[in-house]
Amino acid sequence: MSSTTPEEMWGGVLGEMQVSLSRAHFATWFKNTSVVSREHGSVTVSVPNGFVKEWLENKFNKQILSSIRRFSNDIREIKYIVGPLKLEPAKADLSKIVVERDFANNDALSRSQDIDRVTHLNKKYSFESFVVGSSNEMAFACAKSVSEHLGKNYNPLFVYGGVGLGKTHLVQSIGNATLQKNPLARVLYTSAERLTVAIVEAIKNRVIEDVKSAYSRLDLLIIDDIQFIAGKDKTQEIVFTIFNELHNQNKQVVVTSDRPPKAIPTLEERMQSRLEGGMLVDVGAPDLETRVAILKIKAVERGCQLDSDVLLYIATHIQKNIRELEGALNRVIALAQIYNRTPDIREVKNILHAYLAAPHRKTSPQVVMKTVASHYNIQLADLTKRSRKKEIVYPRQVAMFLLREEVKLSFPEIGLRLGGRDHSTVIHACEKIRTAEKEDEVLRNELSMIRQRVYDSVDQPE
Ligand code: ADP
Ligand code: MG
Repeated sequence: MSSTTPEEMWGGVLGEMQVSLSRAHFATWFKNTSVVSREHGSVTVSVPNGFVKEWLENKFNKQILSSIRRFSNDIREIKYIVGPLKLEPAKADLSKIVVERDFANNDALSRSQDIDRVTHLNKKYSFESFVVGSSNEMAFACAKSVSEHLGKNYNPLFVYGGVGLGKTHLVQSIGNATLQKNPLARVLYTSAERLTVAIVEAIKNRVIEDVKSAYSRLDLLIIDDIQFIAGKDKTQEIVFTIFNELHNQNKQVVVTSDRPPKAIPTLEERMQSRLEGGMLVDVGAPDLETRVAILKIKAVERGCQLDSDVLLYIATHIQKNIRELEGALNRVIALAQIYNRTPDIREVKNILHAYLAAPHRKTSPQVVMKTVASHYNIQLADLTKRSRKKEIVYPRQVAMFLLREEVKLSFPEIGLRLGGRDHSTVIHACEKIRTAEKEDEVLRNELSMIRQRVYDSVDQPE
């Protein structure tokens, strides 16, 4: 099959890997990889950093090789190099500049079947599948009204509330309902993080004016998790201009956040007041009745009938977050599929017991410190030295943070292990990294790789 292009081959490998790995694993190890060349039985794959390179070489090479040989069995070797992702040259067309770049940049790759490539909407989110209760009825009513009178009633609509309470579901429903009513409407859903990346990229490629005008031609722009917008910089200025442009033409803007505009420190004042000038509405934690109803809908969506005492049991034991509620439900459904019948309440209690009381996976301070040192390419001893060099200080702060989060050591204990440092230094470091984790995508990736590796080495005793 020599007619297969290297891109097609790599696409096939990614497809197989995606099926055989969990979503998180797939995103961690295969996101932003591409084939750069193929010569004499050898294929060169570009990966985003040294850590991924090492991992693919040591852990996945065999699997990748056998998968790639299904396309072309003369291939004997795969080389991994750290290099940039091959990107399409930017074009002055919204769907190319914004969406495809977005797409390459996030783990949506693994969910690509469900997500529309142009609007970024996922059809599974609809008003019909959204359960309304006292915690969200106001938000629901506003969202519905916005979709029926685009740009007229509440503009911008600002939906805020805690994690897993249905914000994304609700605002995506606005997009889907809008398109149902008018299939020609220009709708775009994006997260603030992806928007930031798209804007930075457009500035770099000198197509920012095209991008701005492309956004300004939308009928509905939905920005999810605006709290993650970069600090005081060009990005906000551009987003602000786009908002104004849309507002002047009575085009709709919908925004979500985990807190109200005033409480987002990275948001400039004029942006805060622009957002407050529309409609602010919050979603809260659902009551028991709503939780049961949500479980019922989710079970039906997955083609599974469960007894109401089972649903009630789950809803009673998981209260805060709907995503967790779904996690528990998934376990029960998996059980039903294994048994090929509806599990009874006793069985459900049994499997959820482990889920509810799930102890933190175990690791040791030594493993965490070693992994951090090797990730940043420094010596383990550097972590405990007195050095104030930036290359050392930063990994040390990461190590402090992970010792706290993953090993649950006390602050003084962490200080002691890392060269006798004061507990206030440790607290400061942990807070710094915790904040940065929310705002900095690069750090987030680093942390997820380190965690992955920490737990992997625990799973396989050396
Ligand atoms: P958020 O964006 O607020 O973090 P999501 O919208 O991602 O939360 O919701 C998490 C999960 O819970 C999704 O699968 C969503 O469909 C589901 N969900 C949340 N609220 C509801 C609701 N009222 N009715 C049905 N499903 C809901
Ligand atoms: Mg969300």
